[in-house]
Amino acid sequence: MLPRLVQLKGIALDFLFPRWCIGCGKEGDLICPACRRLLPRIMPRVCPRCGKPQSSGVLCASCAGSTAAIDGIRAPFRFDGVIRQAVHQLKYHNLTALAQPLAGLLRDYLAANPLPVEALVPVPLHPRRLKERGYNQSGLLARELGRLTNFPVVESGLIRHRQTLPQARTATLEERKRNIRDAFLCPDATLRDRQVLLIDDVSTSGATLDACAAVLKASGAVSVWGLTLAKEI
Ligand SMILES: [Zn+2]
Ligand SMILES: [Zn+2]
Repeated sequence: MLPRLVQLKGIALDFLFPRWCIGCGKEGDLICPACRRLLPRIMPRVCPRCGKPQSSGVLCASCAGSTAAIDGIRAPFRFDGVIRQAVHQLKYHNLTALAQPLAGLLRDYLAANPLPVEALVPVPLHPRRLKERGYNQSGLLARELGRLTNFPVVESGLIRHRQTLPQARTATLEERKRNIRDAFLCPDATLRDRQVLLIDDVSTSGATLDACAAVLKASGAVSVWGLTLAKEI
């Protein structure tokens, strides 16, 4: 299509489907510049493994007392404010257009805080949950991030073959780990010798990302980091 036509199409779409900021309701962007400035950023320094704010910059108490398969988890934001609203809209209200600006925020974070990455792998949903929702929000984020960074996205890198209880209903960290362990499978050797960056919307205890990392490393991945939009602290 000619650029002018593309432009007109964009204007027509904006006219038919105007966008409002999910934070303040102002017409224009899904996250307006004013709300963008107020996003709940996690400032350095952080625990090198779980990514929680940690002024000393060494392992936090809970990471120091446990082993993990994952090399580290990073998140640009706390699960709060507009980011919390955005994840909710993306996950439960079909506002899939949000994947684009949110992936842009992940791209900006990666540019300022580089991580070892050769392939992006979204944390998969169980097929039943995927059928209910119609899409995997982490898959959308990974796809958009792949488009912005040119890193290949391997959506088939992991399979979730066991339905797990929602993390919120399980109390302790040990219970969360037990709940999620063995939920994932790595179907082939595509990621052997690769540096994998797992993509998810929110990390809570990190147990899901760690279970994914264990499976990927058992299948030959050289390193596995996790990047989530938000972290519950
Ligand atoms: Zn706003
Ligand atoms: Zn930690």
